Amino acid sequence: MVEAFAVASGKGGTGKTTSTLALGMALAERYDVTVVDADTGMANLLFHTGLDDADVTLHDLLVEGREARVEDAVYERFGMSVVPCGTSLAAFEAADPGRLREVVAELAAGTDVLLLDSPAALGSKSAVLPVVLADRVVVVLQPTVPSLSDGLKVQEYARTYGTETAGVLFNRVRPDEDAERIAEQASRYFGGSTLASVPESDAVRAARRAGEPLLAHAPTDPAADAFREAATTLDVRE
Ligand code: ADP
Ligand code: MG
Repeated sequence: MVEAFAVASGKGGTGKTTSTLALGMALAERYDVTVVDADTGMANLLFHTGLDDADVTLHDLLVEGREARVEDAVYERFGMSVVPCGTSLAAFEAADPGRLREVVAELAAGTDVLLLDSPAALGSKSAVLPVVLADRVVVVLQPTVPSLSDGLKVQEYARTYGTETAGVLFNRVRPDEDAERIAEQASRYFGGSTLASVPESDAVRAARRAGEPLLAHAPTDPAADAFREAATTLDVRE
C-alpha cells in the first residue's frame, strides 16, 4: 500500500462522502484505489455507488466470529474497489467497531490508496478510529470560521495519534463567500495546504439521485474539476 487517508470533518453534512468518492475516482486514474464506508452508524456511501442491495457489507466484517471474508464485501464500481456499509441499526449494534483495524490492515495489503469515509464528530473512540488508522487526514470544511474551528479540533485529535493533515478541502463554496480569505486563514492553521475550493453545485445532488459519484455523473462540472485538482494537490507519497 502507498497511503491511507481518512476523509473527516467536525460536523456532518460537510461533504465527506461526496469527497471520498470524488477523490477516489480521481486517484483511480493513477492508482489502485479502495474506498471504505467507515461511517458505520450513518452509512450512505452505498447510495452513491449503486450498492443499495449489497449482500455483504462492512458490518458483516465487524461482527465477532464473522463468516464473511473481507473480499466478499469488496465491489468493483467506477474503477475503484468499494467496501460499502449497511444501514440497518441492528447490524450496527451487532458490529464491533474496534475490528475495523484488522479489516483496514487486510484491505491495505491489497491496494495502493485506501480512502476511509469517516463519521462526523469526535464523540466516541469508534468515531475517530478511521482518523487513527490513516496516514493522513483530509479535512472537509465549509469556508466559514466555525467550520475552521471544527476542523482544527479534528487536526489536533489526529496529531495525537500521529496522523498528519493532508490539507483542507473547502466544499460547497458559494460565489458570495470570501473563500480566498478563509483559505488564507486556513493555511496558517492547518498542516498541508488548501487542497481545493469545491463550489456549491446542483450536479452533486443530481449525482446522488442517480446513485453515482459526481465524477461519473457530471465529469465536466466545475465541482468535479475542483475535486480532481484536490486529488493532484494531495500528492500521494510513493
Ligand atoms: P457528509 O458525508 O459529510 O455527511 P455528504 O457528502 O453526504 O456529506 O453531503 C451532504 C449533502 O450535501 C448531500 O445532500 C450532498 O448532495 C450535498 N453536497 C455535498 N457537497 C455539495 C456541493 N459541492 N454542492 C451541492 N451539494 C453538495
Ligand atoms: Mg457521509
